[in-house]
Amino acid sequence: MKVVFDEIRLNTEKRKELVEITKQVAGIVAGSNITNGICVVYATHTTTAVVVNENEQGLKEDIVRKIEEDFPRGSGWQHDKIDDNADAHLAGAFIGPSMIIPVKGSALVLGTWQSIFTLELDGPRSRRILVEVLGE
Ligand code: ZN
Repeated sequence: MKVVFDEIRLNTEKRKELVEITKQVAGIVAGSNITNGICVVYATHTTTAVVVNENEQGLKEDIVRKIEEDFPRGSGWQHDKIDDNADAHLAGAFIGPSMIIPVKGSALVLGTWQSIFTLELDGPRSRRILVEVLGE
């Protein structure tokens, strides 16, 4: 089995937003010389998540709205006493920092409407997303 590590660096622009990274991840897979296996996309942050969904503007706004409804800012969270971003940590903890995408024929296995996103929860910030491809 081969293992290839790489990373994507990006600068987010809003406090909460979805930033598509499908092309960058696909490029790492294509350059990995791994034909079949899995690809792990992992955010090395506590206020960032990784999700797979449709890149449609209204839906991206709906996802942000749902997060804001479920994890409202300034709701008396304990962490806000030391760092005013408990809502972002909570959303990150429940959504999760990683995704696994199958790799087949040297390409990501994604459905027609599936895209890979970094979900920024406390931007704007510089973010680092690790991509690990495992297979043969
Ligand atoms: Zn914090």
